[in-house]
Amino acid sequence: MSAVSNQNFPWDLSVQYIKKVGPARAILFGKLNIQTLEDLLYFLPFRYEDRTEIKKIGSLVQGEEQTVYGEIISISLIQTARKNMQIVEALIRDDTGVLLAKWFNQPYLQKTFKKGDDIMVSGKVRTGFYSRSHLEMESPQYERIDADEPQLHMGRIVPVYHETKGLTSRQIRSIIWMLLNQYGSAIPEILPASLIEKYQFLPLSKAICELHFPEKGASLPLLNTGKTLMHQRLAFDELFLLEIGLGFRKNQVETKEKGIAFNTASSLVTRFLGHLPFQLTSAQTRVFSEITKDMAAEFPMHRLIQGDVGSGKTIVAMMAILIAIENGFQAALMVPTEILAEQHTLNLAPYFEALGLSLLLLASDMKKKEKEIALTRIAAGEVDLVIGTHALIQETVAFKKLGLVVVDEQHKFGVLQRARLSDKGCNPREGHRPDILVMTATPIPRTLALTVYGDLNLSVIDRLPPGRTPIQTRLFYGKGRAQAYQLLEEELRRGRQGYLVCPLIEKSEALDLKAAQTIAASLTTGFFSHRRIGLLHGRLKREEKEAVMRAFREGQIDILVTTTVIEVGIDLPNATVMMIEHAERFGLAQLHQLRGRVGRGAERSYCFLIAEFAQSQEARARLQVMQQSTDGFKIAEEDLKIRGPGEFFGTKQSGLPELKVANLLRDAMLLESARTEAFCWVTADPRLDQPKSVSLRAALERKWKGKIEWLAVG
Ligand code: ADP
Ligand code: MG
Repeated sequence: MSAVSNQNFPWDLSVQYIKKVGPARAILFGKLNIQTLEDLLYFLPFRYEDRTEIKKIGSLVQGEEQTVYGEIISISLIQTARKNMQIVEALIRDDTGVLLAKWFNQPYLQKTFKKGDDIMVSGKVRTGFYSRSHLEMESPQYERIDADEPQLHMGRIVPVYHETKGLTSRQIRSIIWMLLNQYGSAIPEILPASLIEKYQFLPLSKAICELHFPEKGASLPLLNTGKTLMHQRLAFDELFLLEIGLGFRKNQVETKEKGIAFNTASSLVTRFLGHLPFQLTSAQTRVFSEITKDMAAEFPMHRLIQGDVGSGKTIVAMMAILIAIENGFQAALMVPTEILAEQHTLNLAPYFEALGLSLLLLASDMKKKEKEIALTRIAAGEVDLVIGTHALIQETVAFKKLGLVVVDEQHKFGVLQRARLSDKGCNPREGHRPDILVMTATPIPRTLALTVYGDLNLSVIDRLPPGRTPIQTRLFYGKGRAQAYQLLEEELRRGRQGYLVCPLIEKSEALDLKAAQTIAASLTTGFFSHRRIGLLHGRLKREEKEAVMRAFREGQIDILVTTTVIEVGIDLPNATVMMIEHAERFGLAQLHQLRGRVGRGAERSYCFLIAEFAQSQEARARLQVMQQSTDGFKIAEEDLKIRGPGEFFGTKQSGLPELKVANLLRDAMLLESARTEAFCWVTADPRLDQPKSVSLRAALERKWKGKIEWLAVG
C-alpha cells in the first residue's frame, strides 16, 4: 500500500494512469462516464450476489438457488426444429460431478465461453429432462473466473457492476479491488467531523470499501435495496453537497443580487379584485401576502407557488403582475404551450382592458412584420405584459424595463430557461434583476420540492375555491365505451359540454392527429351525429385554434375532440365531462391535469377513462390511483412511487444534478437532515471560505463541476 496523505488524495487522477487500465480501457470507462479515480471509487455495484457458499456439484439440492464453480468440458449450440429455438449448452465439471447449464436464444454465448474455461454459475437446479441423475440449470447467472484471484469473485458477497462492450463486471471488480488495496484506507473525509459524530455515520473510506466488497455477514437484501449504513453515508454526502450548493446559491441571490423594491400598496390590485366575481380564498390571500413581502424587499424574489390544478394560481400571479406594472415595470408570463398562452391572453385581456393596461401575445407563428412591430413595442416599453412560450427567451426579445417574470407550469421548463428569462431583465445600468414567480401544479412533498426547485421559496395554495363538486372518475374497458357515450350524451342534454382526448403518441404528432381526426369523424357520423363536434390539435393555425376555442367557449361546440394540447390551463366551467381514450397510455400527472379541465364550476363533473384491457402493471396502477383520488398531492406521491424520482423529475430537464447513490424517495429522511444541516452550515459560513469548509468546498467543486450551471447562474 502506498502512503497517500489526506490533503493530496489524487481524486482527479485520470483512470488511464491506473494500473490494469491504460488508454484503451480508459476509453471504455469513458463510456460508463468514468474519467477519474474519484469516478471509479464512486462507481458502485448496481447489485450484489451472494457467493459466500459455493456448492459442490455432487451436493446440489433440487429446486434451490445455488452457486457452483467448475470447468467447462464441452460447449455447444443446438438448434431446435420445433419453435425454432437456439440453445447454448455447457457441461460443467468439478471434482464431485457434472452439471448442464442451458441458455436460450443467446447464441453468442457459444463464443463467450470455451472448453477449459473456469466458470461460475448460479441459479435453480433441477433434474435433467432425459435422466434423473443428470442435473441442469436453466439460464443461470454466469461469470468466467480468472484462476489467479478466485477469492475476489467467490466465497463472498460479490459486487456486480454495469458493463460496457469490452469491459466486464468481473474486470471492473478486479480493477476496483486493486484500487481499494492501494488507496482505500487513505480516502479522506469530506464531511465535517461534527456531522459524522452527530449522525454516527461510517467513515467515508470504510463506506466506500464496503460498498464494493461487503464484509462477511452483510445483509444481501439491504445491499440490493441500497439501505445499508454504507449507502446511507454516501447518500447523505451526496444530498448534503447538493443542499450546500443550493443554500450557497440561495444566499447569493438573497444577499448579493440587487432586486427591485416594489411599492406593493397597489390601487390596480384593488380595482382588479373589484372586477372579480368572487372572493379570494384564504390560501390565495396568504400566498399573495408572501409574494408582496418578497416584492417589497430589495432582493429579487424567487418564489414557487404550488397549487393543485384549479386552485386559482393565475389570479394570484395576476395581482403580482399588476404591482410590477403599477411600479412602472413590464412583466412577462412564460407558459409551456401556445394554446395556454392564447388562453391566458383571452382570460386576462378583459381585465387589462378594464384597467387601461396593455398586453401582448408573442406567438411563434407571427408574421415577420407583425413580430417586428411586437418586438419594437416591447423594447419601447409600450407593452405592460408579454405572454408567450419559449419564444420569450429568444435573443431577439428585449424588454425596456422588465420587473417581473412569471413562469406557469414550471415542471415543463428547466432551471436554465428560467435563469435566461431573468437575465433579460437584468438591467446593466441599474444593476437589478427582475422578480421571479414560478407556478406549478405538480404538488410534491415540501423538502423534495425545495430541493428539486432548488433556490426557490415555496408557497402552497392548499385548498380549492369553494363550491366545487368533486369529479367522479369512472373506468371503462373497450366495449364499455358505448355506456360512456351514453353518459356523455346525458350531460350534453343538460346543456353541458365535454372534451374527448385522444391518445398521446409522443414520437409522432402525425399519428396523434390522425387519431383525433378519425375519432372526430366517426363521432360525427356515428353516435353523436346530432351533436356539434369540434377538433383541436397542435397542427392547426393559430387563427384556426382561436376560432375553435372561441366556438367552444361560446357554446357552439358540444364535444371538443382534441389531443393533449389542452393538457394545461384551459378553463371552461360549462365543460363537465372529460373523456380520455387509451387512458392507459397517459402518465398520472397528465391524467390529473386533463381531469382538472373539468370540475371548474359548481356542476357535477365526470372523468371517463377508456382503456384497453391489455395493459402493463404500471398502467393498471395509474388508472387505479386516478379512480381512488382527486387530490393532486396524493397523486403526485403515487406517481413518484410508481415511476421513481429520476423519471418523475426528469433531472436533465429540471437542471438538478443526477444523484448516484441517494434516492429522493427512499432517502427522504436523510434529505430532510441534509438540507437542515447544509443550510445551517451555509448560514454560518456563507462564502464557504472558513478553514472548516475547505474540504467541503473542494468536494463541492469536484462533485458538481460542469453539472450545476445553476451554481454559477447569478
Ligand atoms: P390553476 O391553479 O389550475 O391555474 P386557475 O387559476 O386557472 O387555476 O383557476 C381555476 C378557476 O378557478 C378559474 O376559473 C378561476 O377564475 C377560478 N377561481 C380562482 N380563484 C377563485 C376563487 N377564489 N373563487 C372562485 N373561483 C376562483
Ligand atoms: Mg394555471
